[in-house]
Amino acid sequence: MGPGEERPVEAGACGGVSELELLKLRAAERIDEAAERLGALSRAIWSEPELAYEEHHAHRVLTRFFEQEPPVAAAWAVQPHYLLPTAFRAEWEPPGARASAAPRPLHVAFLCEYDALPGIGHACGHNLIAEVGAAAALGVKGALEGRPGPPLPVKVIVLGTPAEEDGGGKIDLIEAGAFKNLDVVFMAHPSQENAAYLPDVAEHDVTVKYYGKASHAAAYPWEGINALDAAVLAYNNLSMLRQQMKPTWRVHGIIKNGGVKPNIIPSYSELVYYFRAPSMKELQVLTKKAEDCFRSAALATGCTVEIKGGAHDYYNVLPNKSLWKAYMENGKKLGIEFISEDTMLSGSSGSTDFGNVTFVVPGIHPYFYIGSKALNHTEQYTEAAGSQEAQFYTLRTAKALAMTALDIIFKPELLERIRKDFKLKLEEEQFLNTVE
Ligand SMILES: [Zn+2]
Ligand SMILES: [Zn+2]
Repeated sequence: MGPGEERPVEAGACGGVSELELLKLRAAERIDEAAERLGALSRAIWSEPELAYEEHHAHRVLTRFFEQEPPVAAAWAVQPHYLLPTAFRAEWEPPGARASAAPRPLHVAFLCEYDALPGIGHACGHNLIAEVGAAAALGVKGALEGRPGPPLPVKVIVLGTPAEEDGGGKIDLIEAGAFKNLDVVFMAHPSQENAAYLPDVAEHDVTVKYYGKASHAAAYPWEGINALDAAVLAYNNLSMLRQQMKPTWRVHGIIKNGGVKPNIIPSYSELVYYFRAPSMKELQVLTKKAEDCFRSAALATGCTVEIKGGAHDYYNVLPNKSLWKAYMENGKKLGIEFISEDTMLSGSSGSTDFGNVTFVVPGIHPYFYIGSKALNHTEQYTEAAGSQEAQFYTLRTAKALAMTALDIIFKPELLERIRKDFKLKLEEEQFLNTVE
């Protein structure tokens, strides 16, 4: 097929409407038909919030959802506890696709997140991320399974990816090989606005421990080595460093332990800090400067210091313009109003382990409005993520993702452009990371 051409229209297409457009309509219809089950799925996850790596209830609810999904043509093949105790994988391909002499099937994957935050439940709306992933996958399956003609070499995959808020479950899954052979991955995150892309930044976290020496704070303070002083100095060093930081860098931390009693010179203190920058290269520069701040505080007070980085760094999210353009085109047809590209590219956001995914496979991580202006990680957002109102926006986003997946399945030329964009961004990033 030549550039821009769609796969040939076959029986079932009406005059003037391409098969692809009909399939997109069918995907949206299938999502609407499953709206009640999808809403219940999301609600079940929302009402029993679980922390990173402990999402046993969500895992059970999601795997059961796919196991019990009515098999119109064929059921989902579900693998519970896939590579991690609370991760899963569900797969479907058109019946007969494997028997045909078709080439390797195209693997399109939808990601579900489902971890919550301590104390405030689903304040990041990851129950809706799980719903979007499940709904979009159902939509693509529904569109393809009634399709006349020989089965297409396509595999629809759902990956349940735990621990986004802490630890980085997707990074564990990348390391375990879960993303190998995937062609394009999709997910969507609840927000205050609709953005096909936001420049999520790279992130590194550290735990810093100062060890001093206890002593009576009034009788013989000179015998003590004050670990709280080290923590305070480190805090101040970093605050001063902020003057020379790039506006795109972020440093934020807490003093987790500052001693036990005023009349004991604190022998131990502990800080936890997050560092963020737009690229891994800049993040390394920032981390080095920050570590100097921690070490100098130890030197000044006579403490010893232990600096321990988190298990995983989150990478910045690489944009894929061809993918986000296709998504916006579909979204606009469904009435989604997106923020402008300029606002989008100059916008700021947090960090996500989806960033690491974009370094191994082309992917899209758009943000979507859920009917509330509440901010993520607040109690008001927890309420919004569990509301009936959020359902309309969630399912609409799922439809846009399913339609974009169908575009990729039916337009090989689009897939080529997405792959080129991916390669280019990766090369740019690698160049940036090697240049001094
Ligand atoms: Zn969050
Ligand atoms: Zn989140």
